[in-house]
Amino acid sequence: MFIIMDVHSSEADIQRVMDRIRELGFQPHPIHGDTRLAIGITGNKDTSARVYLESLPGVLQVIPISKPYKLASRETKPENSIIDVKGVKIGGGNIVMIGGPCAVESRDQTLRITEKVAKLGAHILRGGAYKPRTSPYSFQGLGEKGLEILAEAREKTGLPVVTEVLDPATAPLVAQYADMLQIGTRNMQNFTLLKEVGKLGMPVLMKRGMAATLEETLMSAEYLLSHGTRDVVVCERGVRTFASHSRNTLDVSVIPAFKKESHLPIIVDPSHSGGKRESVIPLSLAGIGAGADGLIVDVHDDPLNALVDGPQALLPEDFKELMTVCMKVGSALNRPLSAVPKGS
Ligand code: PEP
Ligand code: MN
Repeated sequence: MFIIMDVHSSEADIQRVMDRIRELGFQPHPIHGDTRLAIGITGNKDTSARVYLESLPGVLQVIPISKPYKLASRETKPENSIIDVKGVKIGGGNIVMIGGPCAVESRDQTLRITEKVAKLGAHILRGGAYKPRTSPYSFQGLGEKGLEILAEAREKTGLPVVTEVLDPATAPLVAQYADMLQIGTRNMQNFTLLKEVGKLGMPVLMKRGMAATLEETLMSAEYLLSHGTRDVVVCERGVRTFASHSRNTLDVSVIPAFKKESHLPIIVDPSHSGGKRESVIPLSLAGIGAGADGLIVDVHDDPLNALVDGPQALLPEDFKELMTVCMKVGSALNRPLSAVPKGS
């Protein structure tokens, strides 16, 4: 259920409704929209409290939500959510560019590449310190040392940092360094991790599981939202199909379907979907054309020697070209690139 309150309700009216929801054994989730004041309710098995809640001062209406995902649903919040990551707004109609190496390999490599992508106009830096690798013998990431390097890259460029959290044990440590926490495709249904990351209350970039349906994706976002974070951005990063010409198949069709169902922003990862440098720009444009709110792109200046995912990394000059074409397509669609945060 969710409650629509009179926009002129007093703080005391709002607090009373929140208290009554808790007394009933449910959880209230205030939803801050531009046009109305709403409170989502989770934990209720039926709608028997509806009449009682409707009688409280300031309450205009109590509406049952038909979807299994409540807080992520457009039924609960009709207008698009805008997620603020240290001044970078995702979901407000502008296109946000996230760029950087797939993995933090060394201080020198990361500072070099992040400085380049920052100069070329990226809004947020990416780089994994904890890498989920298919083989246990592959490079697993630098761990906390990698997080320190990312913090230094943020300081040098003034741009916020998104980095992956692999497990609940290291989540609080990653949160100390990152501005946005990334849930990888392999962990989208690691519900223990989702709960712990949700509780940290920080912005989260949640990648769609490589075999997850739209509904499963929204249910995972719901785990994050119902445990404490208000700020979730979903990422389409390709799904498993029979295709052998690409690493994964970018599911462009999920973008309008997602936007219909949810108020959350959705971005596209053209690097992990296509898996090849030459497909990154075409897939980026497809994603933006379909309505994605931004891109997350692997960039490396020595891809032949990259420790992770070299074949799909754009060279800095390719990233420059990507920025140029995104700017052109964005302005044609009346969706210019986002403003670069102050201080960068
Ligand atoms: C990544 O972005 O570094 C990554 C591992 O992506 P995915 O979880 O989509 O494979
Ligand atoms: Mn990668």
